Amino acid sequence: MDLSSLLSATPEEQYDLFAGTVNPQLARVLRTIGFNRQYVRGEGAYLWDSEGHKYLDCLSGYGVFNMGRNHPRIKAALKEAIDRDLPGMIQMDAPLLAGRLARRLLQIVNVEAIDRVFFTNSGTEAVEGAIKFARCATGRPRVIHCRDAFHGLTNGALSCNGIPDFREGFEPLFPGFDAVPFGDLDALEAELRRRDVAGFIVEPIQGKGVYMAPDDYFDQAVRLCRKYGALFIADEVQVGLGRTGKWFACHHWQERPDIITTAKALSGGFVPVGAICYPDWVCKKVFSSMERCVVHSNTFGRNPLAMVAGLAALETIEQEKLVENAARQGQALLEGLKAIGRRHEMVREVRGRGCIVGIEFDRPQSFMLRTGWDLIQKVNKGLFGQLITVPLLTRHRILSQVAGKNTIIKLLPTLTLTDEDVRWILDAMQDVIAECHKFPGSAWDVGKELAKRAVAA
Ligand code: PLP
Repeated sequence: MDLSSLLSATPEEQYDLFAGTVNPQLARVLRTIGFNRQYVRGEGAYLWDSEGHKYLDCLSGYGVFNMGRNHPRIKAALKEAIDRDLPGMIQMDAPLLAGRLARRLLQIVNVEAIDRVFFTNSGTEAVEGAIKFARCATGRPRVIHCRDAFHGLTNGALSCNGIPDFREGFEPLFPGFDAVPFGDLDALEAELRRRDVAGFIVEPIQGKGVYMAPDDYFDQAVRLCRKYGALFIADEVQVGLGRTGKWFACHHWQERPDIITTAKALSGGFVPVGAICYPDWVCKKVFSSMERCVVHSNTFGRNPLAMVAGLAALETIEQEKLVENAARQGQALLEGLKAIGRRHEMVREVRGRGCIVGIEFDRPQSFMLRTGWDLIQKVNKGLFGQLITVPLLTRHRILSQVAGKNTIIKLLPTLTLTDEDVRWILDAMQDVIAECHKFPGSAWDVGKELAKRAVAA
């Protein structure tokens, strides 16, 4: 196979091919907002396009690249694994590398009662499995989740997705799933009191919007689950593996979950892999006899490349002290952004922990700015966020995303952030936010231009 010739195309050809074969609407959106760059290389926290421009990636593949892109340690481990012709996926065997990764992961999870791992191919599959395990272990039907929650997009995970836009067109979803407001213990207890709840699934920080719960919410919620016999499932698919400045976000709490799901960064950014970390007593209920030894299983879950990527990813995070770095640089980033926020009236809140940060904007008080805001909202509710993300990319070469409500910008950088990277983000944010506080001004012109392009696209 001639990879060089397969990789050779103009940006136009590349986007035409994608639009014609994979996802026309995504290509259209990217073209409309000018995100249709041709990225040709990734290393660490950075991307390069075909014109040689360097970008700081504050999206990190939705949180896959905690250790940066194409990490040499993980690359070397995978190359070696391929060269050894390992006998993967024999299925009728007990793969050594799966045992090794499970043991290492359990050490890192460090929850006394959690001593089993089920490997999956993605985050959503980890969530599917956790739901099944909770139902099987408790013999109860219901699953409680939070409004605004995101747990993946397969049918079970979508049934506990609290964002209507994702559900629309795919209903009816599974019965027995009910939502409570995030952070509301009374609402949770009212559901649990019915004693038919198998599990409460929750993100330690809600990824779509970077919503944070009150400090003692999770400890109290774990206690309530214990009181009423439901399992507490912490979905750490995005915030696990160092992102919040601890190995797992639940390590910030006093209480510990019954089940933890993880994925994304466990792949090292190379081979899809996820995991359900759960207790032996649940394992005994699910895999309750020799006949049921593969009652929940998959084909690729324990494949050797996934296991090697996982082991190398964990080793990298540990040896490069990325958890500590995420805490330190994340704090600097958060404080810097909060200071910028205090100087600009449209910034309603800056929140986050470690290397997951959300900046929420709101309708301004001053007359002129409010005119601009209202105009943009009238043209297209989704547009305001682009007034930030578009100049971040075009002027400052920072890749970021609009998250949840269209007025929230989310930063999900690699955990390798340096002082220079933090400065890069802060200088860029200061410039872009200051610019959209001038009306009329270039930021609002971007809005007008995008609206025009959206109509023409
Ligand atoms: N759970 C959470 C908290 C997530 O953030 C995501 C993805 O963003 C998922 C589950 C789904 O993971 P995947 O996209 O690997 O299926």
